[in-house]
Amino acid sequence: MAKELKILLASPRGFCAGVDRAIEIVKKTLIKYGSPVYVRHEIVHNTQVVENLKKLGAIFVEELSEVEDSSRPVIFSAHGVPKSVPEEASTKKMFYIDATCPLVTKVHREAESLHKNGYDVILIGHKNHPEVLGTMGQLPKEAIKLIETVKHAQNLNVNELKKPVAYVTQTTLSVDDTKDIIEVLKGKFPEIKSPIKEDICYATTNRQEAVKKIAPLCDMFFVVGSKNSSNSQRLVEVAKKSGCTNSELIPFNEKLPIDAIIKCEKIGITSGASAPERLVQNVISEIKKHCNVSMEEVVLTKEKVTFKLPKHLN
Ligand code: SF4
Repeated sequence: MAKELKILLASPRGFCAGVDRAIEIVKKTLIKYGSPVYVRHEIVHNTQVVENLKKLGAIFVEELSEVEDSSRPVIFSAHGVPKSVPEEASTKKMFYIDATCPLVTKVHREAESLHKNGYDVILIGHKNHPEVLGTMGQLPKEAIKLIETVKHAQNLNVNELKKPVAYVTQTTLSVDDTKDIIEVLKGKFPEIKSPIKEDICYATTNRQEAVKKIAPLCDMFFVVGSKNSSNSQRLVEVAKKSGCTNSELIPFNEKLPIDAIIKCEKIGITSGASAPERLVQNVISEIKKHCNVSMEEVVLTKEKVTFKLPKHLN
């Protein structure tokens, strides 16, 4: 007889409004302007999404210098770009469409306004992540300082920052780890200015909270998402910290640890903000081949956020 297994499915999971919008922008640009359409960097960090868009005629490049036909439209990814990128596109007379998530743009404008108002800006985030490169690239190099960890914050020399200090954050960080870093910064700079509205976005926060609810009840926990997806990686960390040490990322086409799964009573599943629901359903179907599964969707909240497309694509 097949092994009985309960699957707790986190909700919300998967696509957020920013990812939905970015993918729609590529699809609508292809429909309106034909192929090929260039996309600077993976539009969202998911291998399957990128492969599907390639089939429709998108060509992915890392830099504008790789664009072979500059008469074709170029789309900037949801993670945002440094100011130098649209400047380069304009100099080269390229037609570009910006698919930066509006919540990332909000952080860009925030950093810019803080700088204009005389603040030294600290960015809490992960070095070399495209969103961090984009946010840092809104200001002159010397005006923004990256802090990655609590230790990094503890070691920060207060004399390095001469003006009043403010901080902004990457949108996809761990809510709890970021709180710890902010505590340290507040100890060093009691007057530090915080963002008016939290920079870690609603989608990141909701997905982490949903994981916290389920992970302590599970023998194993799976996050469907790509290795380079920051918010998916954070979900694995959150699941581990919430008590399910046996938590792992399941990238596209990754073999499931079926031997370990069939030893479990209860497993949890969620997906990162850039992972299509189809991939979650594929994982469940695969598990069902080996176990007698009962499903429960644990709903933390219903998300109603949507973002408008650029006017000329409507
Ligand atoms: S994770 Fe948040 S900031 Fe990133 S694209 Fe989605 S909604 Fe926007």
